[in-house]
Amino acid sequence: ILRARGVRKRFGDTEVLRGIDLDVRSGEVLCVIGPSGSGKSTLLRCFNHLEQIDAGRVWMDGELIGYEQHGPSGRVLRERRARDIRRQRERIGMVFQRFHLFPHRTAVQNVMEGPVAVKGLSRTQAEKQARELLDHVGLADRAGHYPGQLSGGQQQRVAIARALAMEPALMLFDEPTSALDPELVGEVLGVMRDLARSGMTMVVVTHEMGFAREVADRVLFMDQGAVVEAGSPKLLFTDPRHERTRAFLSTVL
Ligand code: ATP
Ligand code: MG
Repeated sequence: ILRARGVRKRFGDTEVLRGIDLDVRSGEVLCVIGPSGSGKSTLLRCFNHLEQIDAGRVWMDGELIGYEQHGPSGRVLRERRARDIRRQRERIGMVFQRFHLFPHRTAVQNVMEGPVAVKGLSRTQAEKQARELLDHVGLADRAGHYPGQLSGGQQQRVAIARALAMEPALMLFDEPTSALDPELVGEVLGVMRDLARSGMTMVVVTHEMGFAREVADRVLFMDQGAVVEAGSPKLLFTDPRHERTRAFLSTVL
């Protein structure tokens, strides 16, 4: 469903992604692990057009979503590209470390917003769907609460429901639990585990090795902007091929 080939990205003098190749199959859960600064967030951002890549190609369902820019592009090209980006973004849901909810909207209003604004759903339809999604993430009784009245774990579950409301084909998670108090991590991982079991295609950047071991179909280890190795959680966690993977795991396990 998602394919990346030779993806490169630099910020100033530092090359943050040095030629990433990656495939995510439909229904697969891929966990991405690696040290701070290895480029994990940047990689996810490239998948969602939040960053423009410098070289390489990214396809979603066979359609190019990221590619290097050649020369100056005309206005028509730019407009077409902007339209493509909007359409493709609707297919990819993203959940960040920080929840980014609208503070002056209730949980249900946060979840409804995208479908009403982007998909043109009626408010009645969107609210019905939003309440179902909040029910799925265990927040049926919090629908009328504002983000400030919710715990971090609850806010993150609203953020997940909001991403799901767009009916994405792929969900990207960037350390969704690392801003949470330890006792709230479990409820968010539980929702993600259920989502994985329902067949959602997911790429999850995480430091939660227990989650990766249990839920991932594949785990990918990144270091210094490159994929060092990828494999089943069992293999990667118990018998990594590379010394760098071994060294990283010894610091986090
Ligand atoms: P962490 O585990 O800490 O979240 P990460 O693997 O997600 O790390 P990235 O956030 O992708 O790493 O960052 C990779 C490198 O790129 C870092 O050295 C970072 O400082 C740099 N970087 C990221 N975004 C930018 C930016 N917008 N401008 C300049 N440098 C950036
Ligand atoms: Mg990051």
